[in-house]
Amino acid sequence: MNHRNRLLWLIVLVCCLAPREQSQAQSKPAADLIITNAKIWTVDKSLPMAQAVAVLGDRIVAVGSSADVDAWRGRNTYVIDADGKLLLPGFNDAHVHFVSGGTQLDSIQLNDATSAQEFARRIHERAKVTVKGEWILGGNWDETKWNPPNMPTKELIDVVTPDTPVFVSRYDGHMGLANSVALRLAGITAKTPDPPGGAIVRDAQGNPTGALKDAATDYIYKVIPALSRDQRMQAAKRALAYAASVGVTSVQHMEASYADIAIYAELLQRGELTTRIYAAPLITHVEDQAKIGVRHAFGGPYLRIGALKAYADGSLGSGTAYFYEPFLNQGNNRGLLSDEMHPISLMRDRYMTADAAGLQICTHAIGDEGISTILDLYADVVKAHGEADRRFRIEHAQHMAARDFDRFAQLHVIASVQPYHAIDDGRFAESHIGHDRASRTYAFRTFLDHGVRLAFGTDWEVAPLDPLLTVYAAVTRATLDGKNPNGWFPRQKLSVAEAIEAYTMGSAYAEFQEKEKGSIAPGKLADMVLLSDDIFSIVPEKIGDVRVLETFVGGRLVFNASAAGHQ
Ligand SMILES: [Zn+2]
Repeated sequence: MNHRNRLLWLIVLVCCLAPREQSQAQSKPAADLIITNAKIWTVDKSLPMAQAVAVLGDRIVAVGSSADVDAWRGRNTYVIDADGKLLLPGFNDAHVHFVSGGTQLDSIQLNDATSAQEFARRIHERAKVTVKGEWILGGNWDETKWNPPNMPTKELIDVVTPDTPVFVSRYDGHMGLANSVALRLAGITAKTPDPPGGAIVRDAQGNPTGALKDAATDYIYKVIPALSRDQRMQAAKRALAYAASVGVTSVQHMEASYADIAIYAELLQRGELTTRIYAAPLITHVEDQAKIGVRHAFGGPYLRIGALKAYADGSLGSGTAYFYEPFLNQGNNRGLLSDEMHPISLMRDRYMTADAAGLQICTHAIGDEGISTILDLYADVVKAHGEADRRFRIEHAQHMAARDFDRFAQLHVIASVQPYHAIDDGRFAESHIGHDRASRTYAFRTFLDHGVRLAFGTDWEVAPLDPLLTVYAAVTRATLDGKNPNGWFPRQKLSVAEAIEAYTMGSAYAEFQEKEKGSIAPGKLADMVLLSDDIFSIVPEKIGDVRVLETFVGGRLVFNASAAGHQ
């Protein structure tokens, strides 16, 4: 076509064709962003590895060799030379408590206190700078790091907190220690009964020691003032910035409050959500979402609702996970069903309501009988309402009865698991439940062998949000005490590729978003993370030290280590 004809043709195009056809007739549009010279692990089975990726708007438009993708380069394309570094799909954390995590970034840290004295000293220091009337909260203490590993009591901290209410949580979130001021505010005395699904720990005389388990913590939570709007906004912003810095591009917020969701909606409207959020409020409020017709994964790419979080039981470390047989070291104790399970038919009714409304159900279940009971209820729902793509989830799925792996697969239940808990609980699990039950604990390999889908997460603020620590945990199963360098129940180790898949496609599937994200493939949202080292080729022991260089959400650079001064 000569110059004159081409001009005529262009005029025809501009005048006559709809805008969409116009762009097709022209040469391909240029990409906004190209990342080239990378080692890309795509998590896309049709093209597992590539060198370059092109992004247009918030979507990936091309993946392939650097030469292929270069065809998308235009005058205004921003090009990043990755210098051969590893690029992965952004991590999707399937189980977080996002606002609590953000709050915790500013709260007292007790997890690495290695003695009861150090625990008390840090609370004393905090009390000195705490405004009168404000509570000291957070903490994540872990008495198993102390010698002797005794549960703390209020006497340890009463003298240094005579006017300050304190309620510091055990790291597993299933127990907390209140001081005398807090017990008084909550009205807890020797006469207060244990609530269903909870326990007030008492001394030989029957007086509360300050330690409260599971539902008993509600006595305290009722009297702690709620976060103000500004505090909640601050916590959410802290959490968003931190998530970007560790390469987490999506989170699934379990037990989100409506106030949390309102903050997310506000940030979304201001264009300030830099992590995609799927929020699951408590199932005790199932009617709210049901009555307005919200269904699973309702919303947009940055904010979705339509899931519900339920509780079957407690935790291993607090002795409240619900087992068929007693714990080895706690008399007849075999754990507690949660207050939502008293009676079990109450939970079944809520499941039926949720399922009829098209809402997704995510149930915390840890002990073998707790898990079995939930599978029974899930089967009841299928029987009543018929087969459907409902993607039931069990959160944690820690200690499995041997027969339940098959039931997980048959009911298409997703195992939403947190590998960091394995290297943490692995320190003491066998002394609590013995070798046989421990062999089916955090049994990630066995789940995959049975065709069960895994979704990876951390349970942040209970465990660290950093995904590389979770990949490290799944690949090495090296317990935090250094006693299992070759892996605790090493048969259950996963490969790096399997761990990444569970953390990307697996988590995306768990929120009905596997067509939108979870892999680096044309058409998908451009959520990606560039790492300092190649976790496929370094020794697995080093994976936890790997840093995030850059994080992209929808093609937007939301974290840059060199700009943040981390390099
Ligand atoms: Zn949790």
